Amino acid sequence: MNLFNIKKTFEMKRVKNWPEIYWCIDLHGTIIPSGSGSDDKTDKLELYPYSKEVLQFISKRKDMMMILWTSTPADRIGNVWNFLNSNGIYFDYLNQNPHALKTPRSDFDRKFYFSILLDDRSSFDPLYDWIMIARQLELSIKDSIIEWNDINKKNLQMAISNSNVELNDLIIFN
Ligand SMILES: [Mg+2]
Repeated sequence: MNLFNIKKTFEMKRVKNWPEIYWCIDLHGTIIPSGSGSDDKTDKLELYPYSKEVLQFISKRKDMMMILWTSTPADRIGNVWNFLNSNGIYFDYLNQNPHALKTPRSDFDRKFYFSILLDDRSSFDPLYDWIMIARQLELSIKDSIIEWNDINKKNLQMAISNSNVELNDLIIFN
């Protein structure tokens, strides 16, 4: 998980006075589990742990916008959208960011702008990363997202340990 990118993004927002931060967030394998059928009709709509708290928090913030990044077919997306809304999660856009306009330096016609990407195809671990994002957000913006009871503290510790396993693998040589 690229927590450093989240930390850096919020530092840039403060230093450069950015009005918004754009979160581009994948659906299957990131917010809800990927199904195994040939289509998504039998997929269980359930949220990964702590995704609800984080996504509700971002939904409420006027200075953060969320783009749902998904290949879900058009005739199925309403179902997903309603499920997310019923959990207090409100995305601003679907697979686009019309809010960030083209500049002389950047053409967003074919690659839309985002500040932070969460995607299980891009190193996001849905079982552990949401709680770490919650904590990093709390530290970056000095607000509260999760009540840190013993269970949540233990889960955070487990998530941190899990992410360190990969890092340790990189520095071990035979
Ligand atoms: Mg995915």
